[in-house]
Amino acid sequence: MKTHIRSRRTLAPFALLTACVLAATGCAGSASSGGRALLPAVGSSAAGTTAGAAAGANAANQQSAAASASADAAALAHSLAGKTIVIDPGHDGGNAAHASEIAKPVPMGFGQTKACDNTGTNGDDGYPEHAFNFSVSLLVQQLLEARGAKVILTRTNDTGVGPCVNIRAAIGNNAHADAAISIHGDGFAASGHGFQIIRATKSAGGTANDAASYTLSEALQGTFLSESGLTPSTYIGSDGYEKRSDLAGLNLSTVPKVLVECGNMRNAGDIALMESAAGRARIAKAIADGLIAYLTK
Ligand code: ZN
Repeated sequence: MKTHIRSRRTLAPFALLTACVLAATGCAGSASSGGRALLPAVGSSAAGTTAGAAAGANAANQQSAAASASADAAALAHSLAGKTIVIDPGHDGGNAAHASEIAKPVPMGFGQTKACDNTGTNGDDGYPEHAFNFSVSLLVQQLLEARGAKVILTRTNDTGVGPCVNIRAAIGNNAHADAAISIHGDGFAASGHGFQIIRATKSAGGTANDAASYTLSEALQGTFLSESGLTPSTYIGSDGYEKRSDLAGLNLSTVPKVLVECGNMRNAGDIALMESAAGRARIAKAIADGLIAYLTK
């Protein structure tokens, strides 16, 4: 019940019941109290009674809204219960110092090989992609765990070497993840900007898995568009979507998986967002909400 009258701290109990009856809606328990509803409010003028009644009804509504919000929060806290999500922060902080180790060939699916990993890119000021990837991944982990999901990271610090890209895929496969995502930043000519949601042309999981990965990419494209502050890539793919056949982490996946290039770290606008804590929080929220949308559809 809406009212323009400001709430009063001291309420006449019968006035509240009167309001419930008159309003006929919005007051829990009014039906069982109807017998007392017509009694006058003690010590109240007619105007005071109306004001008190309105305030009482508001208080009741607020209590009801609070209870509803609390129930909603409890439901949200379990909305991903039973779901396993693998988050793969691209590259690693120790890769640059272990060039030969990360250059060794590993399987990339369909009989081909490629390097274990690489160092990733960086912003013009030296801000490293591996640090961005890891920071965003931890934020996404927090958001998903708050919904009750089991989250597995393919690396748990930003100072190690690897794991190799085939192992990153295996971590998702062995966990039988409901969804997996690799988080990266791109390094392209400064004029290009925007995000790419990349899926495999074909994966080890077969066509059903490829279809699921596409559905996952649609969910993420939507939340990136609405939440991240970044545009779809202006330099590759189409409307933020891209398919590739040269990414081992996607090719070898038997679970729904995509790789996001969140933005171009060589573009002034993108890197400003990516290098700020607020920007990373925004990107992480877009990623988490995309995963939630996919997993709760
Ligand atoms: Zn990368």
